[in-house]
Amino acid sequence: MTPSRYHRQEEHRYDRDRTPQVLLAHHLKQLKLPTVLREYDKVARECARNGVDHPRYLLRLIEPELIDRERRTVERRIRAARFPAVKSFDTFDFTAIPSLNKMLVLELARCEYILRRENVIALGNSGTGKTHVALALGLAACQKGLTVAFTTAASLVNQLMEARDERRLLKLQRDLAAVKLLSVDELGYVPLSPTGAELLFEVFSQRYERGSTIVTSNLPFEDWTQVLGSERLTGALLDRLTHHVSILTMNGDSYRLKQSAHRRRTATRAEQNHATEIVDPETGEITTL
Ligand code: ADP
Ligand code: MG
Repeated sequence: MTPSRYHRQEEHRYDRDRTPQVLLAHHLKQLKLPTVLREYDKVARECARNGVDHPRYLLRLIEPELIDRERRTVERRIRAARFPAVKSFDTFDFTAIPSLNKMLVLELARCEYILRRENVIALGNSGTGKTHVALALGLAACQKGLTVAFTTAASLVNQLMEARDERRLLKLQRDLAAVKLLSVDELGYVPLSPTGAELLFEVFSQRYERGSTIVTSNLPFEDWTQVLGSERLTGALLDRLTHHVSILTMNGDSYRLKQSAHRRRTATRAEQNHATEIVDPETGEITTL
């Protein structure tokens, strides 16, 4: 046998040996089973070493694939929701806002209201954690496998107007109607144009009894007319929104202000502490600045 022929045969054998792995990699990619692809060889060796049978081998591959897939789905939902920040109830201090019904919020975090297609409205002055709560409820919904969209009232209205001008309003309305939970933050900071208010009303109207909506506002209901312009429209909107609703009352001190006041106090105390620590090395005299 000439050396080159021998070489070709060896190469051929090598290819044949590698064929199952190559095909398997291809098929597993097609089937979107990245964890199985990554793990199967290592797990196969472990199972062979420990005399684990084939069904158990398969289970040891499929289980982590399932867990990874769920994690990936949650991550995808979080990205699709377009949260301005990811916040959860783990970092929410309920004692800072006594007016908020903690039991109700924890019940809402179970997301059953979304399955019942009910709404949530959080009302209160600025800095009391309304956005934080809306974000945490949104995150909880993503973790429960539900689709979420998060936006502010101003941004939503802008998107709707833009879509209308570009003749794709119907598509946007359909997308907005399709999510299980739509969170509309900050209704009230910016007064809406008559068209803007109409478009927002249509969104709430299309979701009525079909999907859940969270609205946060710094304004009590009686002042919503100032934002929406017309009393008739406000009435109709509130009628739909509050038919099945949990209302979160979040009036209190601004968490932001409290935090910065606390930081200032701590800083002052630190300065004072620092000052009392100045000791004259010769006289041993303590100087307070
Ligand atoms: P709002 O939307 O009512 O104006 P935010 O939710 O934006 O208030 O809160 C302002 C900031 O303070 C955010 O960073 C938020 O995470 C934080 N915050 C507010 N309330 C709480 C709370 N009770 N526990 C922890 N963080 C809070
Ligand atoms: Mg806010």
